Amino acid sequence: METRQIKPGTVILLALLLVGLIAVGIQLPALNREKQLLQTEAAATPTPTADVRSMMLVTLEPGTTPRPTELLLKPGVAGDDVTKLQQRLSELGYYTGEVDGAYGPGTQAAVLLFQTQHGLDADGIAGDRTRSMLYSQNAQPCAATPAPTQTPSALSRGAEGDPVVEMQQRLKELGFYDGECDGDYGPGTQSAVRLFQSQHGLTVDGAAGEKTLGMLYSEDAQPMIPPPTFNPDAPPLLVNRTHTLPEDYHPADLVLLRNTLPEDVVHVKGSEIEGDRTAAAALEAMFRAAVADGVGDWQISAGYRSIVYQKKLFDNKVAEYRQQGMSGDKARSATRNTVADPGTSEHHTGLAFDITTPGKSFAGTPQQKWLHEHCWEYGFIIRYQEGKEDITGFVAECWHIRFVGTVHSLPMRDKGQCLEEYLGETE
Ligand SMILES: [Zn+2]
Repeated sequence: METRQIKPGTVILLALLLVGLIAVGIQLPALNREKQLLQTEAAATPTPTADVRSMMLVTLEPGTTPRPTELLLKPGVAGDDVTKLQQRLSELGYYTGEVDGAYGPGTQAAVLLFQTQHGLDADGIAGDRTRSMLYSQNAQPCAATPAPTQTPSALSRGAEGDPVVEMQQRLKELGFYDGECDGDYGPGTQSAVRLFQSQHGLTVDGAAGEKTLGMLYSEDAQPMIPPPTFNPDAPPLLVNRTHTLPEDYHPADLVLLRNTLPEDVVHVKGSEIEGDRTAAAALEAMFRAAVADGVGDWQISAGYRSIVYQKKLFDNKVAEYRQQGMSGDKARSATRNTVADPGTSEHHTGLAFDITTPGKSFAGTPQQKWLHEHCWEYGFIIRYQEGKEDITGFVAECWHIRFVGTVHSLPMRDKGQCLEEYLGETE
């Protein structure tokens, strides 16, 4: 039949056409899928372009002047804007929590992280500037690994390497660390860990154990709250054998004295010695005045000492005595002769310092005389004086000074009172 007589050339053409159709048929859905993916991504990225309809509504409504008030998304706020914010932060890898429209600590931490990585003011509040960066094409995905690939079980002083770098980066993001992320677990890193621990209800020991690292890399990790500054009018904190500090007590604002005090004014004996920020400033003023008076060669031998550390010292000594065959009670009372009970030392406050002069016993030196005469003018007191042992419960220590501020130190000098007498706590 005529219709069945098809030329070989036509067969080839038809075949080619068929192959072509099949190919297109296969490719089209794929192209569509790709297009869809792109669209979904774009839709999930709510670029805050002006909504024309709502703009018109605003402009047409009589009596209202559309004033661009800044929308501030911050902790405590809830709603659609927060949902959008969380979605965008999730896409970029900053937020790992639930997209629930509630601006909680997790959202705050994510915003803070985003701000830090984009050179914005890191305050954890999503204002206009932060949001316009976040929804712009310049928004970068989260660079930091939220959790290290291999979670180290514990890190402490002296540790080195990538896990330390990761920890330093995370502490920096949260505002606890302002040093270099060099992978060296030194005194600065230790201070940052301590501050993080104290603000998260963890044992404050400066060692990043499993609990601390777990919290640090969790959604519950909070950005740093700036510690309160020294209040000169508040009554001085009393610490002695009957007024002990709780084990979790931690001074709010410690600084490394070596980094704070100029070496030509005073030598800080250990690189790790810390002290309260305000007290450190008073130390500098005092030693500068002494040097101007012709009395130099000052040394700080001790400052802040943590209760955890004191407890370790105490327990080690007790264990030593027990190994020598003493009973528990006997070992403890023997220990008390040389090691203060944890919680009873003023050094736990960050406000007490042991002042010496290198290579000499301090008593009777020109430095000791100058200190006892002038320390009051800079807010320090000679805490354990001769003749007051029964009240203070400590033997006289001519090298130990305590910062209380001049509001208190000057009247104490003038009345010849020790801290217990001044506070009316002489029981
Ligand atoms: Zn002391």
